[in-house]
Amino acid sequence: MDMYPSPLLLSSKHQKEGLLQPVFEPFGLNLLVNEGFDTDAYGTFCGSVPRTEGPKTTVKEKCLAGMSFAGKRQGLASEGSFGPHASLPFLTINEEWLVYIDLDRNLEIYGRSTTLEVCHAQLDYQDAEQLPTFLANCSFGPQGLVFKDTENAQVLAKGIQDQDQLEKLILAFPKWEIETDLRAHMNPLRQKNIIAAAQDLTERMHRYCPQCAQPDFSVQKVSGNLTCGWCQRPTESYQYLEYKCSACHYQVIEQRKDKYNEDPQYCNNCNP
Ligand SMILES: [Zn+2]
Ligand SMILES: [Zn+2]
Repeated sequence: MDMYPSPLLLSSKHQKEGLLQPVFEPFGLNLLVNEGFDTDAYGTFCGSVPRTEGPKTTVKEKCLAGMSFAGKRQGLASEGSFGPHASLPFLTINEEWLVYIDLDRNLEIYGRSTTLEVCHAQLDYQDAEQLPTFLANCSFGPQGLVFKDTENAQVLAKGIQDQDQLEKLILAFPKWEIETDLRAHMNPLRQKNIIAAAQDLTERMHRYCPQCAQPDFSVQKVSGNLTCGWCQRPTESYQYLEYKCSACHYQVIEQRKDKYNEDPQYCNNCNP
């Protein structure tokens, strides 16, 4: 199948190829790192280059710029963000995106994964007694840290994974602040989520329209209302999955398979 080229260009930094290669390999795709391409121009996690767009726009721009840099017509890129959860703002959500773009076939396929299982935390010198708990909770070691001197508001070190290095910095800069390093190679929980986004992407790349074989034949929207298991009235939960081809607009509407009616606890009539 020459639907996708191999090797396939990956525009990313921070050793993401090591994470992503095992996901693409079963599909016969080898990833090619975009050597020399500076992805940091598209925003970094420590605030030195502010990101202006959402991650979906950023990942597309990064992918196109990487393809142009390498002179390729097809490519992949990955991008993630951390922020407050939309409806539970005291929780941090990590959203990871991957995109595959093929300029010749006019394809743009996105994989996405979100998780609340994140390692995004800070601690400063005023709570120094909590340091051992903080380090244990964030799995310090595999999880890297960023060290800031609050006196000069300066980042002094990133990617700290070593206790000695951390202790030396704390001694030298008594008004310290540390936070978990969010870069992919320093953040094992983020790595897990990047892999999930890559699995979503490879599935979409290999789910073809039954009519015209265009990839990414996927759920475009949900519709209908499941009825309540007790009172049989319609609930706010969806009943159908609507698949639609972006090329020929062929459509399939399927009854969802995970449940046939809704639990009364989600029914506005039974549990207002
Ligand atoms: Zn189609
Ligand atoms: Zn009900």
